Amino acid sequence: MRDGKHIAIDRPCKMGLRNIIKKGESTLAKKSRVIKDFNERLHTLLDDMRETMLEAKGLGLAAPQVGVLRRAVLVVDTTEEEDRIIELINPEIIESEGLQEGPEGCLSVPDVWGIVKRPMNVKVRAQDRYGKEFEIEAEGLTARAFCHEIDHLNGTLFTDICERILTPEEVEELFFSEENDEENDQADTETEKV
Ligand SMILES: [Zn+2]
Repeated sequence: MRDGKHIAIDRPCKMGLRNIIKKGESTLAKKSRVIKDFNERLHTLLDDMRETMLEAKGLGLAAPQVGVLRRAVLVVDTTEEEDRIIELINPEIIESEGLQEGPEGCLSVPDVWGIVKRPMNVKVRAQDRYGKEFEIEAEGLTARAFCHEIDHLNGTLFTDICERILTPEEVEELFFSEENDEENDQADTETEKV
């Protein structure tokens, strides 16, 4: 997912960059398969996805976006002091609450932004790269990113479910207005703008 915000995470090298496939390719419309082997191959995939997401300045990335139909996603949690990347294998939303309506973009749908309704809070159950199960709660922008990435695993793009696509003028306002820069850190305030 994209939100236009600068992601401040060090990118050690560019060894594992993969090609991000774009809307129109059939892979993005397919359902991804459950991951059962938590092996070196999965770890390489996750490492490559991390590189690829940071290079593209994304806020999240799902394995099908790099052409791998497996249930693995990355989400950048921007709520802590330092951004951190959460790896989720076989993620499932087990609880959701509230509603947010705001702009959303996608690395697989360049230059298009749409208004998408998402829950304000979600609880997700997933496994880490070693197969250990965990649960994680998120709100606001991070909750939005979880929903967006998990949708990818089911072959759904934000353009399939958005209320409407933003006009070029609205996109410009979203990213270039001074006012927005101050508000960019707060997903709920950002949501109110639209
Ligand atoms: Zn996306």
